[in-house]
Amino acid sequence: MIGMLFEVKEGIWFDNLSATIHRGTPGGRRRKEPGWEPEPRRGQNWRPTLVYLSASESPSSCRSCHADCGSHPFIQTAKPFFTFADYVESYERLSRVFGGFDTLSFFGDPLAHFDDLRRFIVHLDTHVPREQWPDLAIHVDPASVTRQQMDVLEHYGFRIAAEIGSLKQTTQEGGRTLTDAMDRNAYNRVLRGIDRFTDRDIHVFAQYTFDRSQLDRYEPGLAAEWYSRLESLQMDNYDVIPLGSSISRARFGVDEQDQWEEARARYLTFCEESADYYLHKLLEDDIAKLPRMFVGLLLRIMTQTLYPDCSAGYSLSLTPDRKIFPCAAFAADDRFAVPLDELNSPEDLTANPWFRGIQEAERLRSSKCEKCMALRACSVWCKAQALDESSPFDQSMDERCMLMSVYTRRIVQFLVEQYPKQREFIRTKLLAYDRDRLRQKSAYETV
Ligand code: SF4
Ligand code: SF4
Repeated sequence: MIGMLFEVKEGIWFDNLSATIHRGTPGGRRRKEPGWEPEPRRGQNWRPTLVYLSASESPSSCRSCHADCGSHPFIQTAKPFFTFADYVESYERLSRVFGGFDTLSFFGDPLAHFDDLRRFIVHLDTHVPREQWPDLAIHVDPASVTRQQMDVLEHYGFRIAAEIGSLKQTTQEGGRTLTDAMDRNAYNRVLRGIDRFTDRDIHVFAQYTFDRSQLDRYEPGLAAEWYSRLESLQMDNYDVIPLGSSISRARFGVDEQDQWEEARARYLTFCEESADYYLHKLLEDDIAKLPRMFVGLLLRIMTQTLYPDCSAGYSLSLTPDRKIFPCAAFAADDRFAVPLDELNSPEDLTANPWFRGIQEAERLRSSKCEKCMALRACSVWCKAQALDESSPFDQSMDERCMLMSVYTRRIVQFLVEQYPKQREFIRTKLLAYDRDRLRQKSAYETV
């Protein structure tokens, strides 16, 4: 496989497969071709993540592709939640097959029957040896967590993901943005909930969505104002994610040139302003809260690191009615399901051709991604959103792809023009940022 060269600006070229930057005339120096084969998923110590998916409501965000709440299909199961006995039985059964788990995640509506979850964790605490103890993660609405629930989450060191809502709700000023009182009240309630976590020194990562209604409000200069407002909130870190293209109500339509030319131009300006804001902070200001998506991309381009595809097909998403899916995003489609009761070995997963297809899908083999500047370092490719049965894994994700492409271009230019002037200063800041993310268990390379 050979990479494509992209001209970033006159005299600056970027190879999308190796992530090398070339100066001068392309081809004027020997091309470096680093290995591009991803590390095998299943090394000797590999253990899957097990996602308990309370399916009574839409499952939430994916920390691999940043898929936001609502990107996934609504799921309805005959049985809406896990009892204590369900948790224990499924854990023990799957643990026998896979030899334990890297992480146990609780998504959907895990607070609704929290006592079952609490008893399960207490049970694990007395039955699982320390060296096999998995990481624990939970997705919650911060405003709904009771003091007792918080005590349990804190005691067992859960990693907490908080869904905050839409960017528009942080930006009320001068009548330019949303003024709906209901939304404002709900948003303030969530923020008070976050304060309760941070007061206990529990790390909170917030994910904001950006959709068509924000784009309609956007005007040049406003992105910087939104971001500085977000950074003033009490949370460890945030990401701002364009809503997935698969959601018709929020589509930007940036791919439909004739109809949406104006929206496309506005979105491009928003992406460029966002990149410039983050890079300016890198030179001038504190970067502790800069989005992981952006800083992760910068670090991967600097180090020519290949971003691994998401874990769909390798992690297990289990519904209360005993079906295992490659990821929550497929849980509305029974073709991808493997019944828990029929799983006796890892091979039983791949005996289902739909499940196996998800496991084997690779960004580097997508004909669309092959032609994209961000190919090596991209973190937005989502097997669920890219799946198109007529053209496997080449489905359009234009809003996210445009963002990634603008970020990549701006970062490459920054690395050529700005970075060499303040190399040590920038490296020190990035290393501190990376250390913080690892300490807070929010590394962006893993899923
Ligand atoms: S998903 Fe989009 S941004 Fe990522 S490599 Fe593919 S085309 Fe590029
Ligand atoms: S397919 Fe992958 S990237 Fe998409 S939601 Fe599932 S785990 Fe996340």
